[in-house]
Amino acid sequence: MQRNRLINYLPYLIILIAVLSLFTLNGSGTTSQLSYEQLQTTLKNEKIKESQISVGTNVTTVKGIYTNENDKQVVFTSTIPSTSDQIEALIEDLGDAKITIIDSEASNVFLDALMSLIPFILFAGFAFWMINRMNGAGGANNRAFEFSRSRARLEGKIRVRFSDVAGCDEEKQEMAEIIDYLKYPKKFEKMGARIPKGVLLSGHPGTGKTLLAKACAGEANVPFYSISGSDFVEMFVGVGASRVRDMFKKAQQTAPCIIFIDEIDAVGRQRGAGFGGGHDEREQTLNQLLVEMDGMEDNTGIVVIAATNRPDVLDPALLRAGRFDRQITVSLPDRKGREAILQVHARNKHFAKDINLDALAKRTPGFSGADLENVLNEAAILAVRENAEEIDMGHIDEAIDRVMMGPAKVSRTYDEKTKKLVAYHESGHAIVGLFLENAQVVQKVTIIPRGQAGGYNLMTPKEEKMMNTKNDLLASITSYMGGRVAEEMFFDDVTTGAVNDIERATNMAKDMVTLYGMSDLGPIKYNSGSENVFLGRDYNSPNNVSGEVAYEIDQEVRKIVNGCHDKAMEIIRSHSDELERIAAALIEFETLTAEQIQKVVKGEDISGEFTSRKNGTPEPAAA
Ligand code: ADP
Ligand code: ZN
Repeated sequence: MQRNRLINYLPYLIILIAVLSLFTLNGSGTTSQLSYEQLQTTLKNEKIKESQISVGTNVTTVKGIYTNENDKQVVFTSTIPSTSDQIEALIEDLGDAKITIIDSEASNVFLDALMSLIPFILFAGFAFWMINRMNGAGGANNRAFEFSRSRARLEGKIRVRFSDVAGCDEEKQEMAEIIDYLKYPKKFEKMGARIPKGVLLSGHPGTGKTLLAKACAGEANVPFYSISGSDFVEMFVGVGASRVRDMFKKAQQTAPCIIFIDEIDAVGRQRGAGFGGGHDEREQTLNQLLVEMDGMEDNTGIVVIAATNRPDVLDPALLRAGRFDRQITVSLPDRKGREAILQVHARNKHFAKDINLDALAKRTPGFSGADLENVLNEAAILAVRENAEEIDMGHIDEAIDRVMMGPAKVSRTYDEKTKKLVAYHESGHAIVGLFLENAQVVQKVTIIPRGQAGGYNLMTPKEEKMMNTKNDLLASITSYMGGRVAEEMFFDDVTTGAVNDIERATNMAKDMVTLYGMSDLGPIKYNSGSENVFLGRDYNSPNNVSGEVAYEIDQEVRKIVNGCHDKAMEIIRSHSDELERIAAALIEFETLTAEQIQKVVKGEDISGEFTSRKNGTPEPAAA
């Protein structure tokens, strides 16, 4: 601390010294400069107390002090020619004053030398100060010089507990051991067990990796350092490495503790892969991280938890024993998990009684924990905006749509023809979902434009499965085709609205051929060579597809998609009455839920279910 303070003041000190020395060298400001005449009168009239005579080659400088009539001391200085007569006369005039003779040549040499040294001293001082700052000894006041300090934020008292992390039971179990170790390190030491130094959490964004790591710190009641991988990467080479060093040094002082590195792929990418600048810096940083982790003795009490959503691009060296040798995959929550997450975030919210979180979980496959939290928060905001008493299903419904597609564009109106087109398109999807086994079921369909889409429907598989059969995939592609087919059949024309459907169907068909071996090309993986080099994959990733095979792949993909298209056509043709009924209901009510669609198909009247709402969205019945 002491040293830091001194270094902080060093530049000011140097400037002060410089200014002072300038003053003393130029003589003090209170001295009066006398002409030759004035000097003669002064010598005659005043009684000089003390005098300095410095004899130069051409002129001799005389300084002296006398007391004037007001009893004040006066300092004067003057020059006389350096002739022996003049100097003798001067000494005579000074009488019994105390006289010092100074060799002016000698003193000048000394002063000159000092003068010429000053810039060097100043510069050296400044450089010394800068270097000190760069090495991380600098004070905390000046951010501009904090390059090398780690940006790790220390969060002292963590309030997050495992009970705040819903679902993720397996993940929590894996982490429990780490907590046990942080709490009772002795137990493990005695048994000779080496606890992993690093844990790698991989999974989609928003699945709760940060939350899990934090909960770990909370449960073990240890400090939590968090830093993002991108914080290490700066323009200057070597900065990242010294930040890593600094971070581990800090952590060591507060062990046991957890260091959390988010987005570790920013520094931990495969070395020598990808292209673009900044390699050396990233590699140095990564090397430093490896060195620090290797250098950490067993059971020092520091556990490094890293998170990434691209475990595939990580450098294999990171995953070796003694580094991040425990890998935990945090997966997107399943239906039960989603319900649990909703429950956690519903704790502090004011819901209507008829809210069914299970039904909500069912409608949100593929949502991450962060998405679900966002949905409930959006719903709460909507409720506030409407001055509602409590959050009802309508709010949640709208919130889901917002999170998925952006806010409804109520102001964007479209003409009757477009509205009809969109309604028939969406009804096409719905019909395939209803009448084809294993097809995606439309949970909700709307023709209110939202985000980029004209209308949209929420299609989910009938049930969530770990694996899909070939028939499942074909059925999914068929339901994507439903919209386009309806356009063709009822309007004899097609729209650009099917762009997303076509993209999804094509990708799925391509995967079936090149990854899952579900075509006549056999169970072979065909690399299409399109992996993104920007994400750290090797530039020359092997492309084992010959031109001929590429042609065959295209043929197979086309066969699959066209087959599904025909199937959709067959289904819609035999259920065109039902389709027209759904489309009519959509044009009237604009938004329908799965239950309402079924009622419409059976020919029931649903107009009673729509009470008018302020924001124009019809209120669907609680799912
Ligand atoms: P990641 O680090 O995986 O990107 P976060 O841990 O930052 O995701 O999660 C973001 C937010 O999502 C959390 O703050 C939390 O509110 C919510 N969340 C995610 N997963 C869960 C979960 N399993 N239980 C409760 N909340 C969760
Ligand atoms: Zn569509």
